[in-house]
Amino acid sequence: MNDIELSAKYFLEDLGINTYPIDPFEICESLGIEIFEAPFDGLEGVLLFNGQNAKIGLDSKQTYLPRRKFSVSHELGHFNNDVSFGELKAFRCTKNMIGDNSNQTTDIEARADKFASEILLPNFLIKDLFNYHEPSWDIIKEVSSKFEVSLLSTIFKYIEKSKAACCLVVSKNNMIQFYKPSKTFRYSLQMNESRVLSDFSYASKAMKGLEINNDFELLSADTWISGVNVTKDSELYEWSMPLNSHDQVLTLLWDDETVNQADYEDNSNNPYDIEEKNYSYGGVDNFPWEPPTFGKKK
Ligand SMILES: [Zn+2]
Repeated sequence: MNDIELSAKYFLEDLGINTYPIDPFEICESLGIEIFEAPFDGLEGVLLFNGQNAKIGLDSKQTYLPRRKFSVSHELGHFNNDVSFGELKAFRCTKNMIGDNSNQTTDIEARADKFASEILLPNFLIKDLFNYHEPSWDIIKEVSSKFEVSLLSTIFKYIEKSKAACCLVVSKNNMIQFYKPSKTFRYSLQMNESRVLSDFSYASKAMKGLEINNDFELLSADTWISGVNVTKDSELYEWSMPLNSHDQVLTLLWDDETVNQADYEDNSNNPYDIEEKNYSYGGVDNFPWEPPTFGKKK
């Protein structure tokens, strides 16, 4: 367990919280932290600390509850880790600072995000629900709804902890927006020339409004990935899920040892470590704002 996981764990323990869903608004109340709302210009959340008491401000334009919960939890992270008694301090956090996994934020912001993720989806409460060896959108959706957090926050948490070789791909308008691989998913996504989805992918079929199964489908691995071990015969699992009204599709790729992983142990040059930094996106929860209506067609 790292420092932030530990500090989030103690934070919840001190408050006597051991059931879900976790309500950061209630936490603020029990800590005597006032919450106010205002139509901020570009800011998502603020923490004002006068040396003794804290206030958390939320953008009143933001109405999506999971996002509001994440923002309050992020500010609680600043409160717990970044202020000291007797010192005036203020944090003004923009949309991109909160929930941004693209490594472009400062350490303090990344730490507040991590803290938020840990108090909303604490490891001790999710570990029995998640099957880290076998990914499934059904479980991700179930955890997301039980914990009242966004689907993307939940899948990010899953991917972070997963022991399976899996990868989240977020696509919009038939283009890959970003992807997040688990530690053991060591392939390059097929996006050398462009980010356009392969016609053979279920994600692309869903984009075109075609009916697809709400389950993993086995398909030719080179539809999605490339690498020395990916041959014409390699296969990979894809489970794509269209999101309503966003023209977005969330895809889980899973290599259930169906791709030959001869050089698996050589992880010195994971292409993802290099590639991922080149892709920027506006933050975990910046989209989708609306919760998806699962399984329904546009
Ligand atoms: Zn912040």
